[in-house]
Amino acid sequence: MTFKYDVIVIGAGHAGCEAAHAAARLGAKTCLITMDMNKIGQMSCNPAVGGIAKGQIVREIDALGGKMGEVTDACSIQFRMLNCSKGPAMWSPRSQCDRGKFIWAWRKVLENTPNLSIWQDTVKEFVFVSRETVGGVVTRMGVRFEANAVVLTAGTFLNGLMHIGRTMIPGGRVGEEASYGLTEQLKSMGIETARMKTGTPVRLDGRTIDFSLAERQDGDNDFHHFSYLPTSAEKEKLPQLPCWTIQTNEEVHEILRSGLADSPLYNGQIQSIGPRYCPSIETKIVTFADKDHHLLFLEPEGTDTQEYYLNGFSSSLPIDVQLEALHKIPALANARAYRPGYAIEYDFFDPTQLLHTLESKKIHGLFFAGQVNGTTGYEEAAGQGLVAGVNAALFALGREPFTLSRDEAYIGVLIDDLVTKGVDEPYRMFTSRAEYRILLRQDDADARLTEKGYRLGLATMERYDLWLEKKAWIERIIAFCESFHVKLEFNSILESLHSAPLKEGVRLISLVNRPELNILMLSEYMPELKGLLADVPSRREEIIEAAEIEIKYAGYIERERLVADKIARLEDIRLRPDFDYDSLHQLTIEARQKLSRIKPETVGQASRIPGVSPADINILLVLLGR
Ligand SMILES: Cc1cc2nc3c(=O)[nH]c(=O)nc-3n(C[C@H](O)[C@H](O)[C@H](O)COP(=O)(O)OP(=O)(O)OC[C@H]3O[C@@H](n4cnc5c(N)ncnc54)[C@H](O)[C@@H]3O)c2cc1C
Repeated sequence: MTFKYDVIVIGAGHAGCEAAHAAARLGAKTCLITMDMNKIGQMSCNPAVGGIAKGQIVREIDALGGKMGEVTDACSIQFRMLNCSKGPAMWSPRSQCDRGKFIWAWRKVLENTPNLSIWQDTVKEFVFVSRETVGGVVTRMGVRFEANAVVLTAGTFLNGLMHIGRTMIPGGRVGEEASYGLTEQLKSMGIETARMKTGTPVRLDGRTIDFSLAERQDGDNDFHHFSYLPTSAEKEKLPQLPCWTIQTNEEVHEILRSGLADSPLYNGQIQSIGPRYCPSIETKIVTFADKDHHLLFLEPEGTDTQEYYLNGFSSSLPIDVQLEALHKIPALANARAYRPGYAIEYDFFDPTQLLHTLESKKIHGLFFAGQVNGTTGYEEAAGQGLVAGVNAALFALGREPFTLSRDEAYIGVLIDDLVTKGVDEPYRMFTSRAEYRILLRQDDADARLTEKGYRLGLATMERYDLWLEKKAWIERIIAFCESFHVKLEFNSILESLHSAPLKEGVRLISLVNRPELNILMLSEYMPELKGLLADVPSRREEIIEAAEIEIKYAGYIERERLVADKIARLEDIRLRPDFDYDSLHQLTIEARQKLSRIKPETVGQASRIPGVSPADINILLVLLGR
């Protein structure tokens, strides 16, 4: 059997789902091939989306017209805006999700996306039309799919090997087969590959947990959610559930320590590197040997299940050690496990072999996204999936490529870091990785990206119109604050609000700028402002919050914009991929080697390659000028 498509996406994890949806939305005839249709969008580890810096990525995906935000809102069982005590650049949305419903919500999206077919099967090899060009794939069932572009999003499945104590089980995820052959074929085409490792904790039966010995943590009950589309969160809101916190203790650590000899992380069984910021509990007790407790979170897995995820207790120690240790935590003294924690090793491909479009530099039409690029996390995978899917469609349809820059999106930072610096451990996003944090806030992703998404054909007209309406209202509120005069008579009210009195009349905007005051609070005493806000037709709180952030942080935003624009000039100076750096003897040897290997697309990218100094860039600019 042979089928013909424009784009093939291999794998329906977080990268594959966004890639397939995006490619099909752009008009490419797309087929998503995945091992198990009942695991579409499966959350391999904790049932939660977002968190610090990751939440911003989901907002960006949504603003561009991707689906992770809507799917998350539809399955959210607890929403929190993290870091609210800090400035808005640090605010990060996070949702606990119903794991089972997340899968079905994704299936509903994909099964109702025009131009998109789904095929349950395992891809066993690529078809190449030449040594430099991919032409499709062949599956285990013997079906041949021909396509102009192929997106590989195979996650942790390539030669996946799971570890629990000394037991090793081949597989891509617990209960699922690994994928063989693709790595070997790519290697034979000159693509570099290596191994990484990740892990997951035990899942518990909630009926056996003593919640009276745990501390309850409820979600926020306000207007925030992930999608900028107003209806998705409100329409299908699920019952909200609490999470719980508990702590390990010395007794727990003692038992864990006794199992270290059988720990694949410490007995040499696992050689590859795991995520530094998501360490296993055994790594925590070894690295922080003086700490007598570690915080753990009990997170519900859904509304119709008793299953709880024990966040912070990721482990690949033998099952008996894991269980014995957790029984020493008072709330878990009688806890029964549904599944143990385990670690998994898998293949990834050095992402410096990719362009910013996530297309391979060696093989035309072959795109890589997600865990296969050495990242970790659903959000990082989904962001890459969207970019790879969009570009696969643009490639197949003969249109110009699409990229995001570092001052436009965390997704831009993520991809630029990957293709410029590569990875030596699983890469996760942090706010500190972005140099323009004030520009890349969770509240303004629509301002940054929705128009782009709409012009691409990814964001719908409904989404674009909603953004235009929001933008107009933000501008009206800001204009009102800039023009409205506040007289000295307002001092009595300022006193009641514990704010310093005025010495002369001022514009309202200078009051909004005061940290202790806000627009809603002031509107209670200003009928004109209250009247204006009452006219906002929908998403009132969201729009007022956006206007207020624009006002309060205007100085910082402007300063960061200036710096970003200055640096962006280097991004405009393009470098040919066949540029002969070895002939530039004025450059250091290290710079010549790194530039020849990475083949940066612009001088801006060249300046971010580790080992290429500002002096090298100056020399490069002078030589290019000549
Ligand atoms: C045990 C474990 C623990 C983890 N712990 C963490 C953690 O603590 N923190 C964190 O941020 N992330 C963690 N992750 C990683 C997180 O799950 C991934 O980052 C994320 O799921 C990656 O998304 P993806 O789309 O790249 O791949 P995946 O979600 O892995 O999806 C891959 C998809 O490809 C399909 N597939 C694979 N090969 C083929 C083939 N040949 N043909 C057809 N289909 C194929 C699979 O069926 C699957 O649908 C963990 C993952 C695992 C497995």
